Amino acid sequence: MAIRNIRYEGDEILNKVCREVKENSPKLQQLIDDMFDTMYEANGVGLAAPQVGMLKRLVVIDTTGDNPIVLINPMIVETSGSQTGNEGCLSVPGKVGIVTRPDYVKVRALDRDFNEVEIEGTELLARAICHECDHLDGHLYVEKVEGKLMDESEAYEEEGN
Ligand code: ZN
Repeated sequence: MAIRNIRYEGDEILNKVCREVKENSPKLQQLIDDMFDTMYEANGVGLAAPQVGMLKRLVVIDTTGDNPIVLINPMIVETSGSQTGNEGCLSVPGKVGIVTRPDYVKVRALDRDFNEVEIEGTELLARAICHECDHLDGHLYVEKVEGKLMDESEAYEEEGN
């Protein structure tokens, strides 16, 4: 188990466009394992390679805790509907903001064995796919927040919890 350092908003690596992953290697497999470890440790549901300082088109997602998804060179090929709700990011700790995303997403990518896959997601998974793919083009969700960025505790109050 290896936890990598998460890069935070303000680190210029988070604003760069990531490079396509061209070949599989033991190093890439190690990076994928480390990204899952880092994401679970931080209680996240997704993590993109630039968030651990690697400018590669690679993301890991697990919105349920038992459905790990690896997307290499992901491309969103279909979206529909919309959902508006709170979103956060491990690179912007303690904050949440309201973002509108598609409610359904189909993404084409390579899995960790370099097999071509198509994955469909709705609700939180659709949101996570969009959020993580944005990271690969140097975008953070804070650019899309409707209204103001809130502290996590404020957001809870608004939900009445
Ligand atoms: Zn993020």
